[in-house]
Amino acid sequence: MKETRVFPEESGVNGWFETNRYKNRTFADLSQLQKDYDYVIVGAGFAGVNAAFRLAELRPDAAIALLDCFPVGYFSSGRNAGFIVEVPHASGLVTNSKASLDDYRWRYNFNRSVIARMKKIIDDHALQLDWVKSGAYKSSAIPESFSYIDKGAKFFDALEIPYSILERDELKERLGTDFYLRSIYTPNTVLVNPSEVVRGLATILPQNVTVFENTAVKEVKEGAVPSVILKNGTALKAGKVILTVSGFLKHFGVKKADRVFAIHSFGGFTRELDSAEIDSLGSQIRPYGTTSAHPAGATVRLTSTRRILVRTVIRFATYDNISEERLNAAKKGVRRAFERRFPSLAHVPFEYFYGGYIPFTMNSQPFFGQVGENVFAGAVGEGAGVTRASTVGLYLADLIEGVDSEELRYVQKTFVPSYIAPEPFRTIGANARILWDNIHAKIEV
Ligand SMILES: Cc1cc2nc3c(=O)[nH]c(=O)nc-3n(C[C@H](O)[C@H](O)[C@H](O)COP(=O)(O)OP(=O)(O)OC[C@H]3O[C@@H](n4cnc5c(N)ncnc54)[C@H](O)[C@@H]3O)c2cc1C
Repeated sequence: MKETRVFPEESGVNGWFETNRYKNRTFADLSQLQKDYDYVIVGAGFAGVNAAFRLAELRPDAAIALLDCFPVGYFSSGRNAGFIVEVPHASGLVTNSKASLDDYRWRYNFNRSVIARMKKIIDDHALQLDWVKSGAYKSSAIPESFSYIDKGAKFFDALEIPYSILERDELKERLGTDFYLRSIYTPNTVLVNPSEVVRGLATILPQNVTVFENTAVKEVKEGAVPSVILKNGTALKAGKVILTVSGFLKHFGVKKADRVFAIHSFGGFTRELDSAEIDSLGSQIRPYGTTSAHPAGATVRLTSTRRILVRTVIRFATYDNISEERLNAAKKGVRRAFERRFPSLAHVPFEYFYGGYIPFTMNSQPFFGQVGENVFAGAVGEGAGVTRASTVGLYLADLIEGVDSEELRYVQKTFVPSYIAPEPFRTIGANARILWDNIHAKIEV
């Protein structure tokens, strides 16, 4: 393992974080940092927070530190589009010839169980959250992408997953735009403010977990007693270290972690719409979320705070962090996507605009397992990463504590990212693929 020189950087202003009710909640002060912990978890996204909950449950006597270089809820887990999906991306089944129906059944069951688990924790603590099981749409604006909807429907039939197909008139009433021609609706997706969920969960972690924000880690030294070196030079001893730092894992010198690559995508949040603007969308309108039928297309949310979020524009992350130029260049594309869908709201400005980091792997499988003596790591490899990251975190805790199950054995066998060519071939290949997808997604981007 080696010292990392690459740390996640800010990119624009994350509207979910700015509008989340736990934004000003404080966690532990660095002066409370001990020299020794039973477990140190680095990375407090959905993976790290779920690992912390599960470890604390399995070892209520253990001292656990959860560290993140940002405030909790600031990076990917807090800047995604907020779809906590029960049904895996059907497009994966269509495009990944090696994926079997059985794999997807496993994913579906994992997703259901992590959603139910998080919901129980939330309810047990009466945690106030923007969390609504409103279902989600996958919508097509061009006949060429109807095939994604049709293939999705076949897949749902095979797995007995409930869905309905909606056409333009009904969509106009539900989505407040006549942009979309056809959509597949699945009723069990939960729509959230993701920053509020992950940060809110961190506020109710058991007492034996201490959260340190704004605490960057530069190195992990494996061994009988591994150590964690903070960016400021402070060293902590740990019984075991868990790295849930997403695609930044490769910078810690973890073998095969460069199989996790990433794309950048961008989100624009309007200011709050006024009553007349909401009424202009239609009398039936309720908060909703739709992804695009084409995998390269835009995602749209009407949030419970009466804002519209549009997430679109995809760029390959040759470098993990997003340059100012790339962020600024993406604004035009996000704005165009918004105005295409909501021409009557063209006067409404974005209040927040940000860039996001989405980790991927070639076969969509997460990275998972032991990576050194007493060091463990996990990172996800697909766009629907909230439930996957949560699964990774939970089963890392089970692996460490030796909690055997059929699920853990399945995770160990299948959470193995496949090979991806090194640079410069990966960037060349990825850019070609993104260009191809953009051409075919047409106005759906
Ligand atoms: C724009 C966008 C839209 C998306 N939409 C969806 C969606 O709607 N639904 C869905 O399921 N998924 C979506 N995703 C994907 C999803 O957000 C991610 O897959 C998921 O959040 C990954 O969780 P994680 O815990 O593995 O990683 P992260 O959330 O990235 O957590 C890793 C943490 O590690 C920290 N870290 C990294 N390096 C260090 C270091 N050296 N020291 C200390 N801390 C460090 C980071 O600050 C970060 O907080 C989207 C992502 C983006 C960016």
